[in-house]
Amino acid sequence: MEHPSTIQRVGIIGGGQLAWMMGPAAKKLGLKLVVQTPSESDPAVAIAHSTLLADVADAAATQSLAAQCDVITFENEFIDCEGLQTLADGGTIFRPGLDVLALVLDKRHQREFFGRIGLPNPRYGFLNGDETEAELTAKGQSIGFPLVMKTRRLGYDGYGTSVVSDAIQLTATWGKFKQAPVLLEEFVPFKQELAVMVARSAQGDIAVYPTVETQQVDQICRRVLAPARVSPAVAATMESIARALVEQLQLVGIVGIECFLTHDDRVLINEIAPRPHNSGHYSLDACETSQFEQQLRAVGDRPLTPTRLICPQAIMVNLLGLDASEESHHQKLVALRQLPQATLYWYTKGIRPGRKLGHITQRLDGEADPIAAAAAIETIWYGSAGATEKTKLT
Ligand code: ADP
Repeated sequence: MEHPSTIQRVGIIGGGQLAWMMGPAAKKLGLKLVVQTPSESDPAVAIAHSTLLADVADAAATQSLAAQCDVITFENEFIDCEGLQTLADGGTIFRPGLDVLALVLDKRHQREFFGRIGLPNPRYGFLNGDETEAELTAKGQSIGFPLVMKTRRLGYDGYGTSVVSDAIQLTATWGKFKQAPVLLEEFVPFKQELAVMVARSAQGDIAVYPTVETQQVDQICRRVLAPARVSPAVAATMESIARALVEQLQLVGIVGIECFLTHDDRVLINEIAPRPHNSGHYSLDACETSQFEQQLRAVGDRPLTPTRLICPQAIMVNLLGLDASEESHHQKLVALRQLPQATLYWYTKGIRPGRKLGHITQRLDGEADPIAAAAAIETIWYGSAGATEKTKLT
């Protein structure tokens, strides 16, 4: 591997839409992207300088990737950390480092780390698999019901997450989790869910994005409102959490931080993702520098650039696959393309109900009602029933 200051080729583990959206930024920065992804039809194959067809957890393939690149970054964290450690020991540069990836792969380690560095967690505990019935009940009671049970590894978009309302349900739900090690945490009756993206360079420069509000339907992000409708004090808390986190992690790259805002305006961390994040997609059209460009700047040793909004506000709506024909999806896309101040991203993935197939961002003036604007988009895509949904985990 060459010295980082001469970075020209960036390896990316994962070739989904996140890597695809790095394409224009890579071109702008004069970087070549080499993508490790399992299928020729994955979105980023279209923008890659070259592709290595292999699973993201295939560490032997990553060895070939390393031979072609100056630095390796991630768009997917479901990797084989131990396999990659051998490469890191041999000099491959991973940004962020594998210690960050290993931390994020396990929800228990995330919570313990947040606690160690003084960031605000919900109340939490664990089950290891050897607890007696009495210990199980005691753990549940120490957190309080309702509580949320989460698999420690490989959960996403709410898969592997269940709400438990009482001690009886705790036993039953754990049975469904096959008594594998789990995280238990208090059910947070949040007022809003907030997210913030933050990038850090190898020199220690930090660029924090505006805090946004995310709204999930069935635990999957449906819409993002930028900036979040929160007090300056809450926005400042989010920014200081973002700074503390990347400094403590010594992260090089970008990370998305998801939080809960309680009714008394306390911020609690939910989880982090050390890569571009769905909550930051709006930055492509609404910020001075997109999250994708900023990630490449950070990992490619280019100076970080400003993150400010370039419009008073913006909304992003995810376009999930519908239970409808391909033609019907395309008719809706035609309608969305007519919206003013809006940019549509269609990831050209196979259509499957519930799959993230694209998103649309609309820039808004200061007086616009962001919820009404999102509802107008959702009425086109999901039909009127989807327009005002905002569900919480129940
Ligand atoms: P995943 O890792 O699968 O994305 P998350 O932990 O982010 O799962 O949970 C998905 C969604 O479920 C969150 O965005 C939030 O709406 C809800 N949720 C998760 N944990 C809690 C909690 N402790 N209290 C209340 N709602 C929660």
